[in-house]
Amino acid sequence: MASNGMSRYEPATPCYVVDAGLIENNLKVLREVMEHTGACILLAQKAFSMYALYPLIGQYLCGATASGLYEARLCAEEMSKPLKACGRKIESHIFSPGYREEDFQEILEYCDHIVFNSWRQVEKFGVRARDAGKSIGLRINPECSTQEGHAIYDPCAPGSRLGVTRECFAQGAKELLQMLDGLHFHTLCEQDSDALEKTLNAVEDRFGQYLPGMKWINFGGGHHITRAGYDIPRLERCIRRMREKYGLKVYLEPGEAVALNAGFLVSSVLEVQGSNAILDTSAACHMPDVLEMPYRPPLQDSGLPGEKPFTYRLGGPTCLAGDVIGEYSFDAPLKEGDRLVFEDMAIYSMVKNNTFNGMPLPDIVLRDKDGKYRIVRRFGYEDFKMRL
Ligand SMILES: *Cc1c(COP(=O)(O)O)cnc(C)c1O
Repeated sequence: MASNGMSRYEPATPCYVVDAGLIENNLKVLREVMEHTGACILLAQKAFSMYALYPLIGQYLCGATASGLYEARLCAEEMSKPLKACGRKIESHIFSPGYREEDFQEILEYCDHIVFNSWRQVEKFGVRARDAGKSIGLRINPECSTQEGHAIYDPCAPGSRLGVTRECFAQGAKELLQMLDGLHFHTLCEQDSDALEKTLNAVEDRFGQYLPGMKWINFGGGHHITRAGYDIPRLERCIRRMREKYGLKVYLEPGEAVALNAGFLVSSVLEVQGSNAILDTSAACHMPDVLEMPYRPPLQDSGLPGEKPFTYRLGGPTCLAGDVIGEYSFDAPLKEGDRLVFEDMAIYSMVKNNTFNGMPLPDIVLRDKDGKYRIVRRFGYEDFKMRL
C-alpha cells in the first residue's frame, strides 16, 4: 500500500507525491463504465494537470477537456502527441465562458470539440469553428441545484453566468441552433449519480425538444465515480437512457474522479508551540481548497481532535492567521522534524498552488507502479521571482 511506501521514503519536504498505481486503479473503474455503456470519458485537466501521467491517462480515457488555450495546448503536447505515436487518437474538448479573439485560431489547432457559453459566442466564433471541421456545443443551465451550501460551486445558483437557461436557449436564432452538434451541462460537484439522475430529468424537461437534433451530450464533471460507495449502475442507466432515447453519444469529463485519493502532500513539522504545530506546508499556498471549499484533508496516522491523546492545530508558516489545515490528534507528542502525510492531495492542489509570502512550491514526485520514486519537478526561488 502507498502508506507503507510513504513511510520508507524520505524526500525533501514539502512535496506532492502522486502514485501511478492508484491513478491507474481509478482509470480502470472509469474504463469499465465506458466499456459497459459506450460513453466517452475525458480528463478535466483543471483538476489534475500533472502531465507526466498523461500518457497513462490517455491509454484508458478518450482524451481530455480544457478550460482555455493553455490546457488545450498541454493536452496536445503531452497526451495527443505521445499517444498518436502509439496509433491512438485522443479527443480534445474545450469549454470557456468567453474565448479571446487572439486565442481562437490556436484553439482550433488543438481542439476537436468547442463548447460555447452563449449564443453571442456561437455567433462570434461558430462559423470559424464549423469551417475548421469542429464539433460545436453550447453549455446549458438546467436550473436544477443539487448541492446545498456550496453556492460558489453551484452553476445553477441564481444569476449564474455559466450556461444558457431554457428561456435564453429558445431565443437563439435558427441558423445558430443549426450549428450545434451537442449540448453540455456541468452542475455537479463531488456528487453521486442520484444527483445526475435528477439533473437529467431537468435537462429533459427543459431541453428535451432539442435533444433529438443533437449528436452528443456532455454530462460535465463532478461525478465522484471512483469514490467508494458511488452508485455506478445508476450512472450507467443514466448514460444508456440518453443513448437509447435520443441516439446521443455521451461524454463525461470528471476531474476529481481521475485522481481521487491518488496523491499525498508530505510535510515536516518546523516547530511545536503549545497546541499549535507549524508545518513547512501552507493551506493557503499548497492546498487552497482546504480554505476555499472548505474541508479537512485526511492525515495519515492521525485522529479527530481529542480522539488520540495529543491534539494539535496544524498551520502553515505564512502571515495569514487563518492558514490552518485543521485540528488533528496523535498517539505521541509532535516534535520538530516529524513528517506528516496529507492524503487526497493530487486534485486541485498543484493546479491551484501559489507563492504568497514567497512560499516555496512543493516538489512534484511520482511514485511509479514498482514503488520507485522520481522527482518530476523541483521548484526554487526563480519560480517565485519569475511571476512578479
Ligand atoms: C470543474 C469542471 C469539470 C471537472 O469537475 P470535477 O468536479 O473535478 O469532476 C468538468 N467540466 C467543467 C466544465 C468544469 O467546470
